Amino acid sequence: MSGHLKALRKVAELDSQILELNRKQKHIPELIQQKRDEVQQATEQLTDKEPKLRNLRVKTELQEKEFQAAEQTAIKLREQINRAKSNKEFQALQHEILSREADNTRLEDAVLAQMQKLDQQAQEREALGEKEKRARTELASEQTRLEAELKRAKAEIERLRQQRADAGKDVPPDIFDKYERLIARRGQTAMVAVVNGSCQGCFMTLRAETIAQLKKRTDLVTCHSCGRILYLEE
Ligand SMILES: [Zn+2]
Repeated sequence: MSGHLKALRKVAELDSQILELNRKQKHIPELIQQKRDEVQQATEQLTDKEPKLRNLRVKTELQEKEFQAAEQTAIKLREQINRAKSNKEFQALQHEILSREADNTRLEDAVLAQMQKLDQQAQEREALGEKEKRARTELASEQTRLEAELKRAKAEIERLRQQRADAGKDVPPDIFDKYERLIARRGQTAMVAVVNGSCQGCFMTLRAETIAQLKKRTDLVTCHSCGRILYLEE
């Protein structure tokens, strides 16, 4: 019995390794998808920025043109004032020039503010472009790394399954069946250690007779609470 239990423990140990690798392997496509999402998000941000920047550029150019036209008008008025034929005409032109100049200063300030805004937006676009590039590079390298990891995990699982099949040959069929049924029902470790008198599957304190039975090492002993096969650590 002792030898059979040892063989079953080997199977159980391999099962927990396989389980762990399967868990890790399942997580890999999610990790790749996460990186893909990051790229998509960066691309969307960049795409959103483009029309905003274009509109701002058009608006700035229009304001610049308006300012230049106003400047031309002011120049013409200054030429006219030199040719003024009467004092009245001179005063009227002077009044207009002053009011135009105030308008032009406002227009110039607006153009400068608009250009600053444009600069800031262009910088933001530049940063988003860099971010997108970084996300793409990261995706490519992570994908390569994770796919290699997945391949290694698959090969390792295959190797462990082979070992499990070999170890299973040393377990009597009735015990192996019981173990397999437990695995199917619980979908997790079906054979657990006893630590400080409690089952490490459900953490219930075991009865004294169960411990005594385990110490004899002659029978297959199960937990009265969760039904898992128990073993004592050597
Ligand atoms: Zn238990």
